Amino acid sequence: MTNEGPDSESPDGTVDDDWHLFASASYGSAEAEPAEIMEIEETPEDEWFDGDDHIHSGASIDWEAPPCPAPLGIAHVIKIGTCDNCLHRIGGRRVDSTGAEGGAMLRAEAHSRDSELEKAEIPDLCPLCENLFEDVTNIVDRVVESTNDYEYSTMQFGIHLPKDMIQSEDSIRTKHGAQGSKPLKSSFVNSIQEEISGRIQGVSFVKESPDIMITIDALTLRVDVDVRPIFIYGRYRKLERGIPQTRWPCRACRGRGGDCENCKGTGLQYTESVQDLIGEPVRSTMDASDTSFHGMGREDIDVRCLGSGRPFVLEIKGPRTRKTDLEELSEKINSEASGKVEVNSLRWSQKREVSRIKETRSEKSYTIRFKAGEELPEEEVIEAINSLSGRVLEQETPKRVSHRRAAKIRKRKVTSISDILVEGDEIQFSLRCEAGTYVKELVHSDEGRTTPSVKEVLGTECEVLWLDVGDIHSD
Ligand SMILES: [Zn+2]
Ligand SMILES: [Zn+2]
Repeated sequence: MTNEGPDSESPDGTVDDDWHLFASASYGSAEAEPAEIMEIEETPEDEWFDGDDHIHSGASIDWEAPPCPAPLGIAHVIKIGTCDNCLHRIGGRRVDSTGAEGGAMLRAEAHSRDSELEKAEIPDLCPLCENLFEDVTNIVDRVVESTNDYEYSTMQFGIHLPKDMIQSEDSIRTKHGAQGSKPLKSSFVNSIQEEISGRIQGVSFVKESPDIMITIDALTLRVDVDVRPIFIYGRYRKLERGIPQTRWPCRACRGRGGDCENCKGTGLQYTESVQDLIGEPVRSTMDASDTSFHGMGREDIDVRCLGSGRPFVLEIKGPRTRKTDLEELSEKINSEASGKVEVNSLRWSQKREVSRIKETRSEKSYTIRFKAGEELPEEEVIEAINSLSGRVLEQETPKRVSHRRAAKIRKRKVTSISDILVEGDEIQFSLRCEAGTYVKELVHSDEGRTTPSVKEVLGTECEVLWLDVGDIHSD
């Protein structure tokens, strides 16, 4: 009666929403800096520049030009090489189309106003977006390709643009663009979303909690697709001893499997776990890649968990299907794990419930049976054990867990004791106590590390036969 499960409690950390970091990250590399900035010619006319001018393929930005939508402003942004997409975005004039088409209309208008403009030498690279919009279709192709197999209804985008590009775009747009022009990043996301909407039915774009998160690096055009996990809350009862709560890696091969004889290549010390008895039917139903199991505390492998069951949240990773009937799922789990584990109260949950489950400390009820060193009069046993009701135990870290927890003394209260049963030298009782009480140690005293104890009040050795968790008094 010593095993308490693997040390690796929740090694399967959930992925944080880190795209905010992504969005504000900067490469700060020299490559992002326009090389042309090194070639500024020192002409007298340039003297008023304070060093942050831009020269793009020979056409320099005239900071004196009026902003769009003034015709001179539009003519100017065309001269410096603004692409159709950006022209529409910063032009500030209504036309019948949007995006590149709208920009082409503005360009045609400008050409008809000023025929010289058409003949002017215009740089190829847009100083605002560096022709980023040309990559939209390519990016959307990759998004469509990598999300094909998945069911989803919401999508979120995170775009990373080099910091220098954002800064230079911002200075040109605020100086020459029409007031209220949309910044590059959101226009770029819009273009991508518009094209996706035309190719994928029924997807909506959100700012948080998407089914699918897509991050795009505008510098390398790398597209990352992250299918967000789904969470299910429930309670489980463990009806059979010998089943660990979570997967327990093989001691011999440390979970590597292969040709390990100890685990016959499974990588598992125990072929069954509460995690997989519940998680596998769910994983196969939702065509997911894996599951993580987050229990409200855990019981030892040799301890059953009865009563109304222990609350848990199952995290389903990379699901291809996101919708299912929880009633049917519950029946499937209970029939496949019949006699071992059963679940109840399944409902959809969220990532934040994982921390609630992990942090909740609630009182628990137990039933424990032990063998006394000698037969004692029933009255005496009942009186002695009852004397522990309401007492505060001092529990030094038990020997069985001291290899992974620092030695210290815990104080835990025994709230109540009931149903004391004396059958020869075997004694059984139920108790309710504070979260974190070492219940087996309360009985056998762990060589005096727990005091008071049943062993102490009975004055005889006590060998624990079994322990059941009754109710977990939470939720
Ligand atoms: Zn552009
Ligand atoms: Zn092994």
